Amino acid sequence: MSAALLTGTPLTGRVAVVSGASSGMGAVTAQRLAELGATVIVLARRKDKLDGVVKTIEAAGGTALALAVDVTDRAAVQSAADQVAARFGKADLVFNNAGVQLISGIEELKVDDWQRQIDLNISGLMNVIAAFLPHLTDSAAQGKPADLINTSSIAATRILAKFSIYSGTKAYISHLTRLLRVELGPKMVRVATIEPGMVDTELPDHVTDPDASQLMADLIHDIDCLQSADIAETVAFMAAVPRHVNLTEITMYATRDPRGLAARRRGPRLRPRGRPQRGQLHRLGQARPDQGTRRGGRADDRVRPLQRLVAQQLVELRRLPHVRHRLREDHRQARL
Ligand code: NDP
Repeated sequence: MSAALLTGTPLTGRVAVVSGASSGMGAVTAQRLAELGATVIVLARRKDKLDGVVKTIEAAGGTALALAVDVTDRAAVQSAADQVAARFGKADLVFNNAGVQLISGIEELKVDDWQRQIDLNISGLMNVIAAFLPHLTDSAAQGKPADLINTSSIAATRILAKFSIYSGTKAYISHLTRLLRVELGPKMVRVATIEPGMVDTELPDHVTDPDASQLMADLIHDIDCLQSADIAETVAFMAAVPRHVNLTEITMYATRDPRGLAARRRGPRLRPRGRPQRGQLHRLGQARPDQGTRRGGRADDRVRPLQRLVAQQLVELRRLPHVRHRLREDHRQARL
């Protein structure tokens, strides 16, 4: 089923820059933005792939330019920004998307992989922001929509063994985005982050850990995972909404992704950790600790029946085949 929901050309007049546009989410998003009317500049290192993206866009009647840039090279990114300004005017939509995921156990000390992820996912992202932020603030000052959309990941918030460095870089992106909004929102620059779950792209091809590769291949096979077109439509929608609306943090899971379900299942704790403070309400039963004590019993006594009920329900749930499957997936995930 097609992910395309937007119709017409709502992005006409927009100048969009997409980093990491030679493959995966970036390539498909660039094509979709162009279809919806934007002029698109695609950035990545592989020029042949970028040329292919431009050819597809032009064949469909769109306008695009390929600039082969390593975004970890600050001067090269600045030069790209200058070329965009000279050719098309200031960019008003930046999809800051280039990234790499290299999973390994921390004790393996794959410090070169750590550095590569930090250099690209953090410094590369910052280089794009530094070069194109003046474009965005200028566009906004002229009354145009202006969007900075950074690609983070569900890894920014999920606790996954062996993902430490990658997750750390994505947590940086997610929190940076929240902070930037404080400064840029008042200037009418919309700042946003998308946090996708598993998307079927080249990303896992770079992973060298065989267990992690296998897990990703299984997930792609099992969960009807997200497609680049789903991300593209979301990014386009974020840019197409009225200027005063800023969709800021979009988390996207495949509906059947067990990791998303696990995150929700974990939910609120049954009881606050440690001794309850005076006046603090228990979440379950809304019993005040001091009430329990006044009656000669302990506050915990009022909570326990509810815990028993929840425990019984969990036992029942575990009997259902799809829940058992989900728990198995979670355990596999936790072993990674
Ligand atoms: P791809 O590997 O297909 O895309 C990565 C892109 O980044 C490529 O276009 C690559 O092009 C570009 N890139 C890599 N290094 C550089 C560099 N030094 N300078 C410029 N461009 C560079 O994977 P995805 O499409 O999946 O990844 C896009 C983003 O989505 C990443 O930030 C990733 O972390 C994130 N993400 C992916 C998920 C997934 O499951 N696939 C889930 C959540 C987030 P080139 O090699 O030509 O330079």
